[in-house]
Amino acid sequence: MTTPVATSLFVFRGLDILLPPPLSPGLAPCLPSGQDYLGDHSYPCRDRACRALRLPPLPTGAEAILPPAFEDWRALPFRQALSELEEDEAARAAKGLALLNWREVSKFCGSCGTALVEDPAEGYAVGARRCPACSRIYYPRISPAVIVLVEREGKILLAHNASFPAGRFGLIAGFVEAGEGLEETCRRELREEASIEVEDLRYVSSQPWPFPDSLMLAFRARWKAGEPRPDGVEITELRWGSPDDLPAIPPPGSVARRLIDAYLAEQGAGA
Ligand SMILES: [Zn+2]
Repeated sequence: MTTPVATSLFVFRGLDILLPPPLSPGLAPCLPSGQDYLGDHSYPCRDRACRALRLPPLPTGAEAILPPAFEDWRALPFRQALSELEEDEAARAAKGLALLNWREVSKFCGSCGTALVEDPAEGYAVGARRCPACSRIYYPRISPAVIVLVEREGKILLAHNASFPAGRFGLIAGFVEAGEGLEETCRRELREEASIEVEDLRYVSSQPWPFPDSLMLAFRARWKAGEPRPDGVEITELRWGSPDDLPAIPPPGSVARRLIDAYLAEQGAGA
């Protein structure tokens, strides 16, 4: 007797994911037909065959209703879904979105301009594309970024980014530059955005963050020197927060929140 291959289907539109009823586990009984998809990617992830589709964006000013084929489904921001979906399913969905994003920006060979083709050969990374003219292989682009939780005498450094909603604070983060090691990025970002130096810097965990192609690498460190001073451009306010006195922090599902929650749990104030 053969075991049927379980399939997860993920449908995206803009920054939303469309989820069939009921919410979990994201299995679709059948794929609605007669729909134009902007991207359609099949890939394996965590012992499942998966497929990710992208619906065309809504025309400007259009009412945010779902196409007839997805009538019973519900759309919610994917960042929010990350905290609602079970962990394996969230990871499968994140991989699907990353592959869809990659496909949109990898249509042509950067060397000779020829249209790229799928599936170069056995053994290449999922989503790799090949140039049929010059044989160059292109792997899905991943942009590493670091995020650091800095501790000082029972408090943590919290930063208000200029792009955050009013009153919300997160952690210092930034993209890894070419030629840079991860620890170097952490120290540079803390210096540039907060004017502080740290010690005892250590890696904690990572999380794919497909907005559009990041890999977040989470670190912790202890404050060593310098009074926090925001750069005034990216970071407009900095403060030390204690477990019993925290401002609004990033929503569940984000790596920043995971770092903060782990810290709070250690301090016996875990949510
Ligand atoms: Zn080429």
